[in-house]
Amino acid sequence: MTFMSPDIPGHEGFAAPVLPNGEPASSSSAFVKEFVGYQAACSCGWADQRRFPPTREGAKETEYRWWSRHAAPLIAAAPPSELVVKSNLLYERIARLAAERPLAALTLLSQVEGWQRVLLDQAVAGARESGASWAQVGEAMGISKQSAHERFRTRVNM
Ligand SMILES: [Zn+2]
Repeated sequence: MTFMSPDIPGHEGFAAPVLPNGEPASSSSAFVKEFVGYQAACSCGWADQRRFPPTREGAKETEYRWWSRHAAPLIAAAPPSELVVKSNLLYERIARLAAERPLAALTLLSQVEGWQRVLLDQAVAGARESGASWAQVGEAMGISKQSAHERFRTRVNM
């Protein structure tokens, strides 16, 4: 039994049997014959700390833990998948335009740059107002906490 959400591909949750040595098994393997409990775990390497009894109910509890402790926060931080698809499509179309009609691409790219900067400042301000740390802002953008702070501290008054 695995737990999945289409919004976070690459994350497959499972009830990891806890081996007698206290270590969780690396999969929900049916080959594990002797185990002392269940722990929620994910294919990305995440593992819950809490151990549940080695029963059907215990295994079921791990599903809730995977959702509440791991999947829900990731889904909340992930952009809607249809926007990711559109963003990738826009990138490909503009890349093609840049090859075929570079001046037209420049006009379009300066438009994108104009609204992208405004929206970026707006999103950073919103994240900070709702309590996000500079580390979380950096993580969302794929940059370091220091880079995020240096780049936005004067643009975003928080
Ligand atoms: Zn995961």
